[in-house]
Amino acid sequence: VKPAPFTYLAPATLGEVTAELAEWGDDAKVLAGGQSLVPMLNLRLTRFDALVDITGVDELRALDITDDGVRVGAATRHHVLEETPELWEAAPLLPLAAAHIGHFQIRNRGTVCGSVAHADPAAELPAVSIVLGAQMEVAGPGGTRQVDAADFFTGTWTTVLDSDEVLAAIRFPRWASTARFAVEEVARREGDFAIAGAVVAIDTDGQAITRAAIGLFGLGETPLRARAAEAALTGASVSSVDLEEVARLAVDGLDPPEDLHASSGLRARIGAAVVQRGLARALRPAGGPS
Ligand SMILES: Cc1cc2nc3c(=O)[nH]c(=O)nc-3n(C[C@H](O)[C@H](O)[C@H](O)COP(=O)(O)OP(=O)(O)OC[C@H]3O[C@@H](n4cnc5c(N)ncnc54)[C@H](O)[C@@H]3O)c2cc1C
Repeated sequence: VKPAPFTYLAPATLGEVTAELAEWGDDAKVLAGGQSLVPMLNLRLTRFDALVDITGVDELRALDITDDGVRVGAATRHHVLEETPELWEAAPLLPLAAAHIGHFQIRNRGTVCGSVAHADPAAELPAVSIVLGAQMEVAGPGGTRQVDAADFFTGTWTTVLDSDEVLAAIRFPRWASTARFAVEEVARREGDFAIAGAVVAIDTDGQAITRAAIGLFGLGETPLRARAAEAALTGASVSSVDLEEVARLAVDGLDPPEDLHASSGLRARIGAAVVQRGLARALRPAGGPS
């Protein structure tokens, strides 16, 4: 299957990217790894007069690790997350999540910002971004604006990005070195999008939970924070927290989507199971069995 004809543009700078997007308006689309966009073009589910390939822009290729966190430029591909050992200390959720994304061929081409901009509700990295409290650097013809991850996703495959804007980078703040993390999901086959999944971040003082964030994916139109479950965890004793009850709270009141793979009720049950598994993994004593 072939896409409808389009003009291929390969700008060399971020300024040229936003200028092309401004000139073409709704008739142009950013092309990053192409792992989601190209199949849709090939199947003629969508068409654009111009594709603006951002992967040749040097200034978008940076992966910067600092004391504050990790800044991932828009041309950074998923496999870089798995192949950068420093991330296990700076932002372990990034390599943990990357391992669940598709197959290695997809991780070799797909980009971190592409996954977040594409905003598939079943994708791992959007959920990571809301759990860590990431900041989106959105570049447009008038300059760059910062958007909290919590405000970025507006619906299935939709975000606050305008057609002349590009997600230039994402800043993931560093959590304390005592924090523990987990990504758990259920998919029909290895490499498929998850039916439902959970991203868990927990910090403790050794006795009690001092900070908790849980992100859910596949369970709504956008990635979701499980606020009631987080509130129940915060201040709870590490050794006596009722994980089953917290997991129940995490999906309480949700109305997950229904499709060929799972009914709404099954998705909610899977959601509770992955939250419980993620919490158990994140609360396991360091050095314990994995
Ligand atoms: C078989 C298969 C299995 C997959 N499994 C998973 C999975 O389990 N989990 C998962 O998360 N993903 C999965 N994916 C999708 C993969 O992660 C994609 O790489 C990702 O969704 C999109 O990234 P991309 O760089 O390929 O973006 P593209 O396909 O190039 O673009 C996707 C969309 O995002 C827009 N876009 C891309 N980058 C930017 C940017 N910087 N600024 C503004 N807009 C931008 C494009 O215009 C387009 O609308 C799978 C894909 C396939 C084909």
